[in-house]
Amino acid sequence: MKKPIPIGVSPRHVHLSQDDFHRLFGSEATLTRTRDLTQKGQFASEQIVTLATAVGKIDHVRVLGPFRSATQVELALSDAVRLGLNPPVRDSGDHEGSPGITLIGPEGRIEIQQGVILAQRHVHMTPHDAREYEVVDKETVFMAVSVPAHSGNRSAQRTIIFGDALIRVHENHQLDFHLDTDEANAAGVITGDLAVLFKIGSIPMQNNRNYYPKKHLYNEYDVRRAMREGRIIIIEKGTLLTPSARDLGRGKEVFEYR
Ligand SMILES: [Zn+2]
Repeated sequence: MKKPIPIGVSPRHVHLSQDDFHRLFGSEATLTRTRDLTQKGQFASEQIVTLATAVGKIDHVRVLGPFRSATQVELALSDAVRLGLNPPVRDSGDHEGSPGITLIGPEGRIEIQQGVILAQRHVHMTPHDAREYEVVDKETVFMAVSVPAHSGNRSAQRTIIFGDALIRVHENHQLDFHLDTDEANAAGVITGDLAVLFKIGSIPMQNNRNYYPKKHLYNEYDVRRAMREGRIIIIEKGTLLTPSARDLGRGKEVFEYR
């Protein structure tokens, strides 16, 4: 068996754009780091905001740094229910069609039109880890989560197998399986507990193959990128390949003919 992966539980939090930060905390304010998070460069700040909708509000929501290009609110489903929202499950940064919300800081309030999501459960890892676990970026896997037998008052077993765990590969990543608080509580696990990654090859999962974005014409750059990211380019009737792209991909299992 491959070595288990540590679990990191993410409570509800907010990422802010620099502009939104200043609207909430004032033009002179700085985002103050209090604690580094597991993933390199990410940190918890001193700053907190209130989230509000017509239905309810939640105080003391932590702002994480650094700044993002767009403000994003990550909730657990139970938080969303409290606020009367129905956010989609999304990878970080994908806000299309997600609901908006009001954020209130000490110096102002803003209304965002979109950006409230439930984070898709995901596993951070390096390219080296990805080879070890035989997975590729953006692939989804199963993660089995169980309270360790020795953990005192958390004695009852409530093993859960999470599907749709998104693999996220980057040089700077630390091996970590990120769950929100609802997901972690359902299994009775806390940060530092362990999860086991596995795949069920015999079940054709919808997202099992990792496809390159669909285009009419693929060039050498596309093929190189697809190979680097372990993605498949679909070749169907009418799809064009430049000669160099065709040469590069020949015999490399990067093309899927339909
Ligand atoms: Zn994460």
